[in-house]
Amino acid sequence: MVERKTALFGGTFDPIHLGHTTVASDAARHIGAEKIIFIPAKRSPLKVFLPKASDDERLAMIALAVAGNKNFDVSDCELKKPAPSYTLDTIRQFQADYGSETRIYWLLGADSVDDLPYWHGIAELIDRCNLCTMYRGGCEPPDFTKFKAAWGPDRVEKLQRNIIETSLIDVSSTEIRDRLAAGRDVTGMLHRPVAEYIRERGLYRLSGES
Ligand code: ATP
Repeated sequence: MVERKTALFGGTFDPIHLGHTTVASDAARHIGAEKIIFIPAKRSPLKVFLPKASDDERLAMIALAVAGNKNFDVSDCELKKPAPSYTLDTIRQFQADYGSETRIYWLLGADSVDDLPYWHGIAELIDRCNLCTMYRGGCEPPDFTKFKAAWGPDRVEKLQRNIIETSLIDVSSTEIRDRLAAGRDVTGMLHRPVAEYIRERGLYRLSGES
């Protein structure tokens, strides 16, 4: 039976930027995945602040950024559920929907490694799918060896094996929001249609500005 590989890429995407799509392309090539599905979270269980842009706006910006890339797709499955959304539940859902011929991967950036112990059902999540950690500009390369005592050597070995040496793109949504609020340039950080969308709607400006 031909096995399909689908990678899921969750995040707040407030807004989606060129860092996200560049590392996702690298990861797709490395894995041999035919689809990368971007999944905006309603609210990250680990982030204190709510997204600045609405669910619909974040979804629309992802749709603009992925349009034209036949390997990219977007799903609103987490936005339709009550917040917060748990990765484990999303993976269970995709595995049930796609069946056993599809191997599911979950992508995350190197900066998320230290958050993993706080993820809901992390041991089951590691066992259930391929959790692939991507390099991120400005961050140390991912390393899971310190989690051996907590998760056991087999899980740590699987996580290490699934590290992907993606391009180093030192861009974050926080920096983009800060720059936009200060009226500074964000050239080279955003997809052009996303930058247009933000400009037309006045997103991320300081409140009170017209
Ligand atoms: P924020 O600055 O608001 O925290 P962010 O830029 O980290 O946002 P998220 O939407 O939180 O973006 O990220 C979703 C996922 O993408 C996370 O797993 C994050 O580690 C990863 N990611 C984001 N930017 C990059 C990047 N430049 N390189 C590699 N991974 C990234």
